[in-house]
Parts: sequence; structure tokens; C-alpha cells
Amino acid sequence: MIPIKKTCRFYLKTDYPFFSLFDDELVCFNEVWDDSDYCKIHTDFPDDEDSPIYNKLLNEKNKIIDEIIENRDDEWIGAILPEINIENKKFSNIKLPYFKIKKSISFVNAEIGDLNLYGAVIEGDIKFNKSKIENVYFDNAIIKGNLDLRDTDINEINFESLFGDKGIIEGEILFNGSEEELNNLFKDNMIIEKK
Ligand SMILES: [Zn+2]
Repeated sequence: MIPIKKTCRFYLKTDYPFFSLFDDELVCFNEVWDDSDYCKIHTDFPDDEDSPIYNKLLNEKNKIIDEIIENRDDEWIGAILPEINIENKKFSNIKLPYFKIKKSISFVNAEIGDLNLYGAVIEGDIKFNKSKIENVYFDNAIIKGNLDLRDTDINEINFESLFGDKGIIEGEILFNGSEEELNNLFKDNMIIEKK
């Protein structure tokens, strides 16, 4: 008898038409991980960072993290990752829609076309040190830490989508240019709601 493999129970309700697949429900067909109801991508970390399960999961996610970031399809929508640290790399575009990042995101000396963080939740800071990025999309995203824009070359940052979904920064915006330069960076869409 062949055991039936259970599939991930990840479910995402979204009003964002670009991601709507099955009556606004996004589901995942990956096999479940370990004793979880979800696959290794959609299994959340336990609170205790010293627990064996935390480390086992961290190890599993770290093995495929590069693949997830470099994948330009929406296959990994809603992925739960520990943190993202990218240095000295060049990408055409990076799409991380509805991702949950448990710590921080850091791009150092990176070159990226568009960076899309639509609907993402970032528990820590986002840093773009010495990086060159065309457009950054934070529509509907929540940044719980600081947005560090010092020493960056970004053309435009979008905080509101065509559908009116607004991004939120709970921390500070760190910027080492003038207020005018900062406003230019956000064009006319600097809609930031402070908690
Ligand atoms: Zn899944």
C-alpha cells in the first residue's frame, strides 16, 4: 500500500487580482513537512529559537532560500523565512508577495530591477545599503522595524497599489538626503500609517 501524501494546508485570502487563482483562495500543493499541517515553506517557526524543531526547520528553509529568492514566479507566495541577507548579487526582479520575514531583510551592494514585497510582513528592519534598485513595491506590506534608505540608489518606492492597498512602516525611515529627495523617492504616494 502506498501511503497518501498530505498536501500543505496553506490558504491565503487576497483581493489582489494578480494572484487570484481559485476564487480568491491561494493554496499550496507541496507535501507537508514533518508533523506540520504545512509544507516546509509555509510552516511557521516555533517561539523558542533554541528548540530542536526551530533549528531543524531553519536548516530546511536555508537550503532552499536562494532558490526562493531567485524564483521569479509566484510559486512561493506567502513563504515564511527566517531572514534575507543578500550581498554582492545582481537580480533582474525579486518577487516576495505575502512573505513573512521573521527577522530583517538586508541587501548590501546588490543590484535589482524591481523588488516586490506586496502584502509582506517584515518583523525586523529593511536595509538597502549600497544597493541599486529600480522600483520597490511595499503595497499592503507591514514593516515592523526601520526602513533604512541610507546610501541607496532607488528610483521609486511605492506604498500604495492601484487597488488602494497601503503599506505601513511602524519604525523609522532612515535617510541621509534632503526632505525633497525623500519626497521624490516616494513620488506622490508616500502613504505611511504609523501605529
Ligand atoms: Zn505550502
